[in-house]
Amino acid sequence: MMRTRTLLFLEDDEDLQSLVTTYLRDSGYQVQSARDAEEARAILARTQVDAAIVDGQLPGMTGAGYIEEVRQTRPDLPILFASAFWRDLKSHELLTKQLRVARILHKPYTPQELLVWVEQVLSPKAKKTPEPVEADDIAAAIAALSAEYGTRLPEKYQELAAAVQQAQRGGREELEEALKLAHKLHGTAGSYGFVQVSAAAGQVEKRLRQRRDEGGGWDGVSLALQDVQVASAVHAHPNETAPHTALGTVLVVDDDPSWLAAVERMGHERLVRVLTARTAEEAAAVANQHWLDGVLLHVHLGKPQGGFEVAAQLRGMSGAEALPLTFFSADGALEHRVSAAHAGASLYLSRPFTALDFMGAVERMVAARRPERARVLALDDDPLALRALTRTLASEHIEVLSLSDPYRLLEALTEHRPDLLLMDVEMPGLSGLDLCRIVRSTPAWQELPILLNTGLIQDEFRIAAFRAGADDYLSKPVLREELLARVQARLERGRLARERAERDALTGLMLRRPFLEHVHARLAEAQRWRRSLALCLLDVDHFKKINDTYGHLAGDRVLMTLGRLLLTRFRKEDVRGRWGGEEFMLALMGESAQHAREILARTAAELAQHTFEGDKGERFQVTFSAGVAVTPNDGLQLDELVRRADERLYRAKTRGRNRIEID
Ligand code: GH3
Ligand code: MG
Ligand code: MG
Ligand code: MG
Repeated sequence: MMRTRTLLFLEDDEDLQSLVTTYLRDSGYQVQSARDAEEARAILARTQVDAAIVDGQLPGMTGAGYIEEVRQTRPDLPILFASAFWRDLKSHELLTKQLRVARILHKPYTPQELLVWVEQVLSPKAKKTPEPVEADDIAAAIAALSAEYGTRLPEKYQELAAAVQQAQRGGREELEEALKLAHKLHGTAGSYGFVQVSAAAGQVEKRLRQRRDEGGGWDGVSLALQDVQVASAVHAHPNETAPHTALGTVLVVDDDPSWLAAVERMGHERLVRVLTARTAEEAAAVANQHWLDGVLLHVHLGKPQGGFEVAAQLRGMSGAEALPLTFFSADGALEHRVSAAHAGASLYLSRPFTALDFMGAVERMVAARRPERARVLALDDDPLALRALTRTLASEHIEVLSLSDPYRLLEALTEHRPDLLLMDVEMPGLSGLDLCRIVRSTPAWQELPILLNTGLIQDEFRIAAFRAGADDYLSKPVLREELLARVQARLERGRLARERAERDALTGLMLRRPFLEHVHARLAEAQRWRRSLALCLLDVDHFKKINDTYGHLAGDRVLMTLGRLLLTRFRKEDVRGRWGGEEFMLALMGESAQHAREILARTAAELAQHTFEGDKGERFQVTFSAGVAVTPNDGLQLDELVRRADERLYRAKTRGRNRIEID
């Protein structure tokens, strides 16, 4: 039988005092209330108090001052501190670390919420519903087991790979054996939370079954097996800071199988996942099935310069508009330089290239693609929990950054600029709720999606969580699938909202303001590296007449087509925007005026090839005029460059249109 606990409640507001006192007494506590420090001292002197709730603002002194005084005689008394305003992290740190405040509460709080924290502070191991501590223990045990299993994954892969090899040479029995192993790995890896290994093993299983039942080929099996290998290798050495995926996944397209094999080896030794294709069809099939960080293409694929067509085709696939590309060929690279830049090549290599060249290209493409990976910042004081979160969430689409020190949260936000914050609620001193409020009161992070992760599932807590500004919360122990699903849903919504805010709906291009922001950054970069940057202003010729003759909808189709063309050509680092109406702006990195003109001429030629249809079925063609200004020759400031480009565009118009002026 537990004796009744006594609480000291120091609060000068009488109404709050009676409300809270009544509620706490109803809940089975003895409450000694005080209006000021003097009354509180008297209570402490005559009564055995189990915990104190201290208001931040007291008549004649601060709550912190009073706590400092209490600490001289009662160094271990659990104290909850009620604050009327949001505190910054520094004062939190002072309160929790120096004055050892067990919990900071923000006013207004509800008595129910207060009770949750009081109970937690008094008996952290005996909570009513459910038992997060116990759940944490189970989680820790599972995490340890799972880490151990992870180190054995490469072994499991070897075993499976050997079995598949046997099956390839042998008969039905060997195939069944391989199937059994794949099936087992799929299941067990999944239970331990190695989602990628599990998924890949599932693919192996599926392909093997297809082989058995429908006489399918071995290519799919090997491809899936490669995935198992990469995923297993990554998990074999759990390390919190290391990225939990391979350096990257690239597709290499070439019709020479021996060269493909050589590149596969380069990748294999350096933890780059290399997928290969020999034809345009194969390339499209691979791109359809895998997230790619980039593609390396032979310039002459199938026919002279066929690689450029394959590139255009790959970039035409939805979601692949900005796919980073590298071209290679055995002949003079310079000759195809303009085509390559127009097609969107980040790099041009000559074949054969070295492993070093290959890695350089991969790193560059991965870096270009990286910002598209969503970043999740996970905060938890428990490193095991962090590791489990990372394991569940980290993938080709999600990068997980972990943080175990809540006091570093704001710095970490600034440093990593995450797309989502996933936070534990119960951390020593500082709660996830406090942090939530602090984050929300920082203008830059008011929109950041926040998910709280907690063992406290009482209704009042849920309400408190939402009031603190959380978007969602998950109760511990967290179901992996649910966590992943909720995080993905939030990220997707955030991405869509950003797209909507930044992109023009008709053309898919950036709107003028975000465009300018991006170009500013590029311009600074160009100046830092003493590179050039070509700013190109495009304007459709006689567009008003197109609208008048063929209808406004036909006009819209013209803009859509040109937008799509600009979106799917060029390199990732080139910025493209809709400047307004029928005007578009491009910023091409590292290009001279002459090159920019040649590149734009390609675009003009592609547009000219397109036959548009009017509202009544008429057919027509479209041209544009352009003006180009290049930094540093034409100026260093953006507005200066825009003005120059505009002047030249005007000149292109007066000189007969369908022209590109560069000086
Ligand atoms: P120029 O060759 O000198 O550029 O002549 P222009 O007719 O293209 O130039 P002008 O600026 O006179 O006309 C641009 C027209 O573009 C006027 C406007 O109604 C039309 N426009 C602007 N935005 C849109 C749009 O989103 N859709 C359509 N269909 N038309 C648009
Ligand atoms: Mg915790
Ligand atoms: Mg115009
Ligand atoms: Mg025009």
